[in-house]
Amino acid sequence: MDENVVSLKPNRPILSRYLESYIEQAHKQEQQLALLLIQIQRGQELATLLGYRAIDRLLEESAARMCTVCRKQDRIIRIGDLEFAMILPDMLNDGHAMLAANKIVGKLAQPYALEAGTFSAESRIGIAMFPEHAAKVETLVQYAESALADAKASGLPYGIYTARSLSKIEEAWDIESAIDAGLRAGEFEVYYQPKINLHNRRLCGAEALVRWHHPKRGLVSPAEFIPAATKTGQLKPLTWSVLNMTLGHLASWPTESGQLTVAVNIAPTLLKDELVNRVTDAMGIWGTKPDTLIVELTESGVMSQPELGFDILRHLRQKGVGVSIDDFGTGYSSLANFRHMPATELKIDKSFVTNMLVNEPDFRIVRSVIALGKSFDLAVAAEGAENLSTLGKLASSGCDYAQGYCISPPMPADTFNDFIADYTPMVY
Ligand code: C2E
Ligand code: MG
Ligand code: MG
Repeated sequence: MDENVVSLKPNRPILSRYLESYIEQAHKQEQQLALLLIQIQRGQELATLLGYRAIDRLLEESAARMCTVCRKQDRIIRIGDLEFAMILPDMLNDGHAMLAANKIVGKLAQPYALEAGTFSAESRIGIAMFPEHAAKVETLVQYAESALADAKASGLPYGIYTARSLSKIEEAWDIESAIDAGLRAGEFEVYYQPKINLHNRRLCGAEALVRWHHPKRGLVSPAEFIPAATKTGQLKPLTWSVLNMTLGHLASWPTESGQLTVAVNIAPTLLKDELVNRVTDAMGIWGTKPDTLIVELTESGVMSQPELGFDILRHLRQKGVGVSIDDFGTGYSSLANFRHMPATELKIDKSFVTNMLVNEPDFRIVRSVIALGKSFDLAVAAEGAENLSTLGKLASSGCDYAQGYCISPPMPADTFNDFIADYTPMVY
């Protein structure tokens, strides 16, 4: 086994001993250190299905994959049935640790070929930093655990420790001025989640998803700041900035294996004439071909003001831009309005997709949306596909596109560039 791996048998005491000495060293050399706790999700289900020996093999394979993103000085220790700790000394900052976490999540999301077949397992990671968050072994472990719990609760692939969980009362932060300052300081970044074509298995594009690296709070979820920014009117500058960053990235993506598309989320409050001008301007700046851009609007957003909304969307369609109706199935479209909807794609909400293999009613909804899309000449995409069997079932049901953790969680632009270069057609 690789020199990075200290133990492949669950061994918590070794973690404490290693952390003790790595912290001491980091202290002497005035360096930062990151502790990552990495938990394989739904492993318990796999264990029941395949037995613990298969889980051991899965974890061996996971450790080997983690080694491929390790530097020489990093250490991996299995600390539980489905859990690893990773010690990363000599970190530049917490962004450096998040980058590592993102790479690991990506590696672990790739399918595992086990004796009984091919399986996918998702992972979640909690991060705590020495000395920024804690200086003692037990506290550092406790904080990484709290970050892991936060990541699991918010559905994000990884999370960094914030004082939030410990001091809820101090929590009333001034999100409005924080967003302003964040925009000025360039704390917002666009992540990309790949989208594949289920007919030919090829990578066909990505969805742009904004991330906020708050200097104190770590990674703040869009679910937290988009609603706040909507109330305060800051969503406009944020969206135009996301649009420009995204089209800039799109212009740099390789086109050898086909032109990729990019989807940008637009909140319903921005469905005004200005949107058409902003989109046209941004496309002009970056030389974007209109058919490579898709705007995503939630079904509930479009349906809250169908007359005005449809008009704006029609303008965008006339320019050649694609229109995808996001979270479809949760927005109460009336069929009377639906037939005039100027869309090119329906994106089935993840709440129907994620469990469709075990929940028959969910699958029936997915199948009905596919049929609805087909009869209106709309492409149908599914979001929230978490395993390969779901991809297989979506493909055999006639769904056109898919997105989800089993292909990859959202990742930074640089990582997505590597993803494009390394992508080979998925087998499902
Ligand atoms: P959305 O547009 O429906 O994006 C899909 C969300 O599902 C993303 O969460 C993505 O990370 C998550 N997801 C992807 N694959 C899976 C999976 O296999 N399983 C599960 N459980 N989840 C999956 P994220 O990035 O946290 O974004 C949440 C929402 O925030 C987005 O939902 C979108 O409505 C909003 N948002 C994100 N970026 C922007 C933006 O730039 N502008 C606007 N207006 N809204 C944004
Ligand atoms: Mg979306
Ligand atoms: Mg969605």
